[in-house]
Amino acid sequence: MLEKARVAEVIPMLDTDATLFTRIINREIPADILYEDDLCIVINDIAPQAPVHMLVIPKQVIPRLADASCEDQPILGHLMWVAAEVARDAGVDEAFRLVVNNGEGAGQTVFHLHVHVLAGKTGSPMFSEADIG
Ligand code: 5GP
Repeated sequence: MLEKARVAEVIPMLDTDATLFTRIINREIPADILYEDDLCIVINDIAPQAPVHMLVIPKQVIPRLADASCEDQPILGHLMWVAAEVARDAGVDEAFRLVVNNGEGAGQTVFHLHVHVLAGKTGSPMFSEADIG
């Protein structure tokens, strides 16, 4: 088997350190892509916690919200605006909820910032503040 550095050398397009979401953005891993622009992508969550469960993901890798800098404010605002746009497209703009899990203790599993857009029911674990700790 080729070493990781050698793989990247042999296949320049393959970034073996890329996050899962970067690999989805680069079409290396399939996903339901609902929206895309220069700054972000929106996909359906593979394990939905509500009837509507989308992920708004910046193309720029920020591991956690707590890692965002002052200069990142435009992209953070853009993610919020896109969240409302895709909620409207999904027909749930009257009632949806945004969740950002920051850190393992809050349930973050993919360390590439993303905003969960949830709609359609309450009572799933994603809606429970009791899980955050
Ligand atoms: P976190 O737990 O980091 O806040 O959220 C990560 C989310 O990514 C989870 O809701 C999980 O279901 C979703 N996820 C993990 N792997 C994949 C994947 O390969 N494709 C898609 N579409 N979603 C994924």
